[in-house]
Amino acid sequence: MGATTNAEVGAAPRFHLHPEVEAMPRERLAALQAERLRATVRNAYANVPLHRTRLDAAGVKPEDIRAAADVRLLPFTLKTDLRDHYPFGMFARPRGELARLHASSGTTGRPTVVGYTAADIDAWADLMARSLAAAGARRGDVVHNAYGYGLFTGGLGAHYGAERLGAVVVPMSGGATERQIALIVDFGARVLCATPSYALAIAEVAEQQGVDLRNSALEVGLFGAEPWSEAMRREIEARLGLRAVDIYGLSEIMGPGVACECECQAGLHGWEDHFLFEVIDPETGAPVPEGDAGELVITTLTKEALPMLRYRTRDVTKVTTAACDCGRTHLRILRITGRNDDMLIIRGVNVYPSQVEAVLVGLPDIAPHYQLVVERRGSLDHVTVEVEACAGLPHDAYVPVARAVAHHIKSLIGITADVVVKHPGEIPRSQGKAVRVRDLRPKPG
Ligand SMILES: [Zn+2]
Repeated sequence: MGATTNAEVGAAPRFHLHPEVEAMPRERLAALQAERLRATVRNAYANVPLHRTRLDAAGVKPEDIRAAADVRLLPFTLKTDLRDHYPFGMFARPRGELARLHASSGTTGRPTVVGYTAADIDAWADLMARSLAAAGARRGDVVHNAYGYGLFTGGLGAHYGAERLGAVVVPMSGGATERQIALIVDFGARVLCATPSYALAIAEVAEQQGVDLRNSALEVGLFGAEPWSEAMRREIEARLGLRAVDIYGLSEIMGPGVACECECQAGLHGWEDHFLFEVIDPETGAPVPEGDAGELVITTLTKEALPMLRYRTRDVTKVTTAACDCGRTHLRILRITGRNDDMLIIRGVNVYPSQVEAVLVGLPDIAPHYQLVVERRGSLDHVTVEVEACAGLPHDAYVPVARAVAHHIKSLIGITADVVVKHPGEIPRSQGKAVRVRDLRPKPG
């Protein structure tokens, strides 16, 4: 597909922006975590009434925390805690000491509000710069930032990190896709930051315009803020001619840059000098053995304004502490399958939209745009997968293609789904976070 840039970039020497921490021996990392965990628990206990109440109820005092593993003594924090203490009830600093607020739109009810001191913003910029460098970005690169700017953490998070790295930032935000393409070409962007679904939308519009972005200066893409599949990665790499790297973050913990893949593309390094990662059984709350799937739980280690104790991300994943070829010692989070909240249970089978995506991407005759429509029929949940025909597919082929796609979904995921093939361009395109599921089931309560 002409994407030879991947091999060229991969051959470059591994570069660590913060070599003293990125390659720190794991025993020293654990000692650093213990020291920072103690400070975090002291901060939370002294300044956040909710944490103090819960720690008291659990019979845990800040001085009981000695080693990093003592994190297990702490109660969990849930997303609903932030909503219940809207807007500033979880903050450990008075409003006047904050430098910035961000908020999630919140699909139901109150938004989730997060706050940062100047030191928090500074640490975030460092971690995002480290993530960009791990992905292959360098000082002097033009970074085209198509993450949304505003209350969403993606835009400003990537922006500050790119500036901290010494890159040249193009603060484009989402939307106006044709203009994005012109600026990527004209400004010589080497690095693209976007959601994966929007990266694909950029590729598609460029192809329609007759612009071959594989011949542009683009070499590195950092894509995150929504779960995506390995198949989608290959598709984006082939169509944009870059190395597509997965980046992870959530505003409750910081924003983008909590974890990021390195040039090896073999899992996302979770930055353990700033965060303590656990994987638990979501039912029992007990830790699962390394390598087993479970819910990712994160404790912040340096956050001043919003210390988080054992925040339940709802994201399902596995971690490994095995050595990575890049020389970094920080654990790796394997590709996030999906968020528990996004998981559908279709007649007893657990399904994430990203699993359906992995089946769809790469099938002939259909474009990699899709939506799942979930309905209640009688007492059973029913899913319809809406896919889009490739341009030029004859109309009388739609029904046989739909049947073939349904067969693939049945054999690879194990669910029976209706498949509807739509005309090219009929599935709504992402301008940021893609809407993968339309849930038409009656809301409980
Ligand atoms: Zn690595």
